[in-house]
Amino acid sequence: MAKKSSTGVCRFCGQSVIVENGAEMTAPQLEESATMLCGCDEAIKYQQEKNRRSVAKQRINELFGEDAGEYKQPDAVRTMMLNVVDAICDKK
Ligand SMILES: [Zn+2]
Repeated sequence: MAKKSSTGVCRFCGQSVIVENGAEMTAPQLEESATMLCGCDEAIKYQQEKNRRSVAKQRINELFGEDAGEYKQPDAVRTMMLNVVDAICDKK
């Protein structure tokens, strides 16, 4: 059974985008999904940055997380590294 789609608006260009399963989303989630689906320049830039951020965080968890053996870092250290990724991605 197909889930109900809804229409979200790209936060950069204001274009309406159909979001699958959108009927179950909150307004901010709908906007986020629409932005992730939009093809305008700003949205694509945003999508790439978001992707880079999640890849970086994934790598940190791989390299220093639960399964990293002797390289495993305390949660506090890992949280710090994840925050640094956010700071870099937010250009702070
Ligand atoms: Zn757009």
